[in-house]
Amino acid sequence: MIPVSIFTLLWLPMAMALLVVLGLGAWYTRDGRVRARRKRASNIYRCAVCRRVYVETRDLPLARCPHCSCMNEVVKRG
Ligand SMILES: [Zn+2]
Repeated sequence: MIPVSIFTLLWLPMAMALLVVLGLGAWYTRDGRVRARRKRASNIYRCAVCRRVYVETRDLPLARCPHCSCMNEVVKRG
């Protein structure tokens, strides 16, 4: 039989559980930041000619409508 102290029996599982919780917290925080960055990067445009609404992920002052190729200004910055 392997000699194990009471300290090891109590604190080792708690320390491992704490590490798992901290790791999951860091992972969720990082995942939320990535989603926020992706969401911020897209701008919404409305075409003045065909009235279609489209999204451009690049930060451009004017974006070409994918339907009629008209250049339009941003309606809402993401
Ligand atoms: Zn258009």
